[in-house]
Amino acid sequence: MKTKDYIQLEQDYGAHNYLPLDVVIVKADGVWVYDVDGNKYLDCLSAYSALNQGHVHPKIMQAMVDQAKKVTLTSRAFRNDQLALLYKELSDMTGYEMSILMNSGAEAVETAIKLVRKWAYQVKGIPRHEAEIIVCEGNFHGRTMTAISFSTEPLYRDDFGPFTPGFVIVAYNDSAAIEAAITPNTAAVMLEPIQGEAGVITPSEGYLKQVAEICSKNNVLLIADEIQTGLGRTGKLFACDHEGVRPDIMVIGKALSGGFYPVSAVLADKPIMGLFKPGEHGSTFGGSPLAAAVARAALRVIREEKLAERAELLGTYFMEQLEEIPSPYVHEVRGKGLLIGIELKPEAKGARRFSEALQKRGILTKETHETVIRIAPPLVIDKSTIDWAIPVLREVLNMS
Ligand SMILES: *Cc1c(COP(=O)(O)O)cnc(C)c1O
Repeated sequence: MKTKDYIQLEQDYGAHNYLPLDVVIVKADGVWVYDVDGNKYLDCLSAYSALNQGHVHPKIMQAMVDQAKKVTLTSRAFRNDQLALLYKELSDMTGYEMSILMNSGAEAVETAIKLVRKWAYQVKGIPRHEAEIIVCEGNFHGRTMTAISFSTEPLYRDDFGPFTPGFVIVAYNDSAAIEAAITPNTAAVMLEPIQGEAGVITPSEGYLKQVAEICSKNNVLLIADEIQTGLGRTGKLFACDHEGVRPDIMVIGKALSGGFYPVSAVLADKPIMGLFKPGEHGSTFGGSPLAAAVARAALRVIREEKLAERAELLGTYFMEQLEEIPSPYVHEVRGKGLLIGIELKPEAKGARRFSEALQKRGILTKETHETVIRIAPPLVIDKSTIDWAIPVLREVLNMS
């Protein structure tokens, strides 16, 4: 079968909830992917940062295969040897005392929301079921009913109501707006330190610090959704580390498994995470021995290969090179580490045609919000690969 045959099958039998590029991938290795027709591409999306460790990392693959031969699922009705070790290693690596394991990022976000609501009633003393959570315009926290209830993107929300109440939306990158929105019923502020899906929107320096101060002054918890920005992507373990901010609750996913298996987690200290009591929350697959073994290996790779440091160095280099490209279409290059957005001017007539042109030349990217090309390769990329990609990007950013 050829590319067009697979696309036809998808078209006929699959829900049309995505509009992928016309490339059918059959295998991958590190930063490279290969399609059914034998073409090779540099992956500059990394499955939205789930592949920080690169495709099919041999150590994570080995851990997955080894564990799959032993035991894959116990359910949390019984214990398993891998989860206990993952808890400990997550704590050692992040400094948070406890964690809870889920599967998808959206599920972890929901878990964080349940946790802060519980904190609101049991610790802060907010009247039951009246807790408010402040979120930001342009947010992306996943696709579940509650996560889209406070989305500001009509595409994600229209025709999906009624929505979950209890959220207050304020402008992003405006700490005064957060302060003004706080009421006695405010339980938490939840935000992304960089808004990836909104187009790599990078707030001004000091924003996160100001928000953290406002939260602690008002006895409001700060939840950072670092599902996309965390685990090395921006040049630190967490994007919040750039400002020395330690949120009360950290939500991670994506690269927590290096792309092998859906694994997400919520991290917090004991006074908060300790509020969950047996039976109050759970997941059949969350914290399975297979998930835990894969996550342990994925975290080890981040540490051993110093992926955060790599992202810092190579991201700075990549961004400098991109900024030097003369182009009639580029409005701005922004981001941190290897999370880079190229914002195009209106005369570029949309980012999609650039993604398609890059695909023809061997680079896979994804446009976001019509005007931004996101460049986020696996963190195992090297300088010579960037040096190969730059002229390709230069050519495409100058096409008519
Ligand atoms: C991807 C993402 C999510 C949702 O994760 P899923 O695994 O797709 O449910 C939530 N928040 C942010 C910031 C993300 O980038």
